[in-house]
Amino acid sequence: MELEFSDRVGGKEAPAEAKPEAAGPVPAVSLAFGSSVQAPAAAPAAPPPVPTSAPTAATPSVPAPSNGASMARIGDKLVELGLISKDQLQVALYEKKRSNKLMGNLLVELGFITESALSAVLAESSGFERFDPKSTVVDPALIKQLPKEMAQRCRVLPVSLDGESLRLAMADIYDVLAIDQARRYLPQGVEIIPLVCSESELASAIDQYYGYEFSIDGILRELETGNHDLSSAALSGDGYVHPLVRLVNAVLFDAVKAGASDIHFEPEGSFLRLRYRIDGVLTQIRTVHKDHWAAISHRLKIIAGMNIADKLNPQDGRFSLTVGQRHVDFRVSALPTVHGENLVVRILDRSGSLLAVDQLGFSAGNRALLERLLKRPEGIILATGPTGSGKTTTLYAVLTYINSLERNIMTLEDPVEYALPLIRQAQVREGTSLTFAEGVRALLRQDPDVIFIGEVRDQATASMALRAAMTGHQVYSTLHANDAAGALPRLHDLGLHHGLLAGNVIGIIAQRLVRRLCTACSTQRSATAEECRIFGVDPGRPPQIGQAVGCPACRHTGYKGRIAVQEILPMNPELDEMVIKGASLTHLRKAARDYGFIPMAEDGIAKVLSGVISLESLMRSVDVTERL
Ligand SMILES: [Zn+2]
Repeated sequence: MELEFSDRVGGKEAPAEAKPEAAGPVPAVSLAFGSSVQAPAAAPAAPPPVPTSAPTAATPSVPAPSNGASMARIGDKLVELGLISKDQLQVALYEKKRSNKLMGNLLVELGFITESALSAVLAESSGFERFDPKSTVVDPALIKQLPKEMAQRCRVLPVSLDGESLRLAMADIYDVLAIDQARRYLPQGVEIIPLVCSESELASAIDQYYGYEFSIDGILRELETGNHDLSSAALSGDGYVHPLVRLVNAVLFDAVKAGASDIHFEPEGSFLRLRYRIDGVLTQIRTVHKDHWAAISHRLKIIAGMNIADKLNPQDGRFSLTVGQRHVDFRVSALPTVHGENLVVRILDRSGSLLAVDQLGFSAGNRALLERLLKRPEGIILATGPTGSGKTTTLYAVLTYINSLERNIMTLEDPVEYALPLIRQAQVREGTSLTFAEGVRALLRQDPDVIFIGEVRDQATASMALRAAMTGHQVYSTLHANDAAGALPRLHDLGLHHGLLAGNVIGIIAQRLVRRLCTACSTQRSATAEECRIFGVDPGRPPQIGQAVGCPACRHTGYKGRIAVQEILPMNPELDEMVIKGASLTHLRKAARDYGFIPMAEDGIAKVLSGVISLESLMRSVDVTERL
């Protein structure tokens, strides 16, 4: 998110509307307002960068004038795009002299253009994002801060607050007065990022958000008191009138905000249990009366494009939503159980998980090992671990780190989880020739320097990865294996002979994600004698270690966020020699220690002793029993 934020304030391009030659005076300060870089690539006539006097966008309280230049320009723009004719523009200009209306609104009133077409063009040419009420879930807590009457008068709707930036849907993004008035009710000191929205869309969004209950508890109360139409037709709409439609949105919003990776809807006996997986651990959120389950599952299946009539077969579907300011993909899986259909919604937050290498939790030693690996011009670097161990996040961070204009980095993924700037990402498609193995073949013809293959899971992919490495490329991929050394026999099982592995696999990272102790509430305690044995220290002088407690900041779990516990096995000629001779993993690991290899358990124990994680949480993910 922060990355997105810095992109936004860093941009220096002026919007098309702020061109100096536009009719009417345009003060130079207005450039700051338009300096969002989210300008769609399709914007045809982007002016050259304006290096002068554009102040930082942190205080965009003086945007371009409301009725002058910006709106006159929009007419030309629409003619240029062929959406209205020159004659129609003349008519509107004539009308404009007699009324004080905005050009865009006039064109809509005259019936020359539809409102949604207008707001799409406005969004594109201004460089601001468009607010689409149909696919956006707005933060109900923000709505409470701005009175309805103010929202209507200023024609704005607060959408999301993320750190220092507040996204505000506006009927007229150049209305300075509206921003200033709304600002008094909104959190102090935040940067306001306008979102383009058409007049009528905004009006109906205001009606919806101010007219109905949006908290989960409130909606549940509402459901208990009234009779509601549970027909398919009622549940298919986009509107907010139906409480179950709102309930599903509220749960999705709540789960994304809580940082959950999955939502579990579990019918059981007379109730429905709702659980989130947060930081890798399931947490019960609430229980709902079973009467509501049929309609909730119905609604979820409708938006995920699944067959609502079929309740006897496993199914899956997907949908996307803008939740607050994040673009989130949801994958829904349904499985019939003895208590009814069980639904799990996986949350893929495309804007949430892009980390820098320094945020990955590497110890200084492992960081140095990694640095050395990355300097090798060719060969395979693997990240191993079970599903959900953060392999892809780690490799994305590495790709971002090595990314430069001099390198062609190409990826083949299933699916593309996050869009990475300057990296060409392709998605494997079932039933086409773009499989992992065939895709790598195609990628190799695209003159890459670095190739990232989402996962090596079959023989064909393994041998293509090897071929890519042997022909002078750096290849990154993930593999299911328990530890770093375990990747070698796994690749051998996939048909790569020892002789081929040696020299081509240059390094293997293995990792697990372990819950971090909540910094707001964790305490310290002395390690027990048994724990001292695990740490390998004298029980007579037990070290202090962190203990989970629980507070509101961590939802009373004692943990907040996760950190990776890693091991990096760097290959070299000596170890390669052992691989060729078929040395056992035990021997290999032992020899690797001479070259800097620290087993994952030790990396984890160092993190326990430094107070970042607890021993309990480490033992959930990493096997330390052999040290007992
Ligand atoms: Zn806490």
